[in-house]
Amino acid sequence: MRHHFWRKAGFLILVVLLLVFGGWKWGQMQDGVQREEVRERQLDFRAENTKLKDELKRGENEEQKKNKKQEGRDREAQEENAQESQEENAQESQEENAQEKKEESIEGVSYTDPPSLDLASVRAMEAGAVLDTARIDENMIDSLFSSEEVGEELRQKISGISYQENDHISLGDLRYIRVLHMGFDGQTHIGELLVNASVADDMIEIMSELYKNSYPIERMLLIDEYGADDELSMSDNNTSAFNYREIAGSSRMSRHSLGVAIDINPRYNPYVKKTGSNETKISPANGADYADRSQEFDHKIDENDLCYQLFTEHGFTWGGSWNSVKDYQHFEK
Ligand SMILES: [Zn+2]
Repeated sequence: MRHHFWRKAGFLILVVLLLVFGGWKWGQMQDGVQREEVRERQLDFRAENTKLKDELKRGENEEQKKNKKQEGRDREAQEENAQESQEENAQESQEENAQEKKEESIEGVSYTDPPSLDLASVRAMEAGAVLDTARIDENMIDSLFSSEEVGEELRQKISGISYQENDHISLGDLRYIRVLHMGFDGQTHIGELLVNASVADDMIEIMSELYKNSYPIERMLLIDEYGADDELSMSDNNTSAFNYREIAGSSRMSRHSLGVAIDINPRYNPYVKKTGSNETKISPANGADYADRSQEFDHKIDENDLCYQLFTEHGFTWGGSWNSVKDYQHFEK
């Protein structure tokens, strides 16, 4: 019986222990569930929080984007404005440039792009005229040193003045020469000479060389412009060649009568002849200041002068090297 009692008591204790253990375990499980729920809720909360934050952020971003867009638009607008004003400025400066160019070209018309003169136009110019060399083709210059036979117009002009019918020279022996020469004014002038046909080429070559070297010759007109009066021509410092003169009481002919002599810048290079112990004849009279050749002055012909060098190279003699008289303006062949 006793044995049966302990078996019952043992069984009861076991049941109680199991109940106690079970209860503890359940409680623990319940705690775990609760903790799990809390964690989930926490996670949910966090997620919600994150979501809100994201939304908030997105909102901010959009706001920012909007702002940025606005800023961008403002900037674009500013840039457009800048662009426009730049374009306006560019247009203005282009207009200014165009205006300046127009003004330049207006100025240029009178200096760099003049209407060009053809050969016929230059040949039609009066002797003594100034030729604006900017208006001619540089290649034309050689053609402006030319020689031609005496035509009818010229025959009428010189007959009875520098030319008279004679036994020594006919008009057919003469050549009318047109050249260019550098004037005392530094400008190019049309020059003319009447010379013997035998020296025509020499004269053209020498005058061409003098012009290329800008050798100043003040005037070069036919002596007929002075009524064939040698003194008038010389005193006007006119360079000339042919002038038919019969020297009274002399069989000797001036080389000018044959057109083989030329007088260059005669006022500065006068004819000087001692006529007495204290008397000197100077032609032209207004060239007296230049009779003393020991002085230095412009347009003085001496042995260092280009004119002297060219004429002597072409076989001419210089009147300045004569003994009896000194004719500093004179070269003859
Ligand atoms: Zn002479």
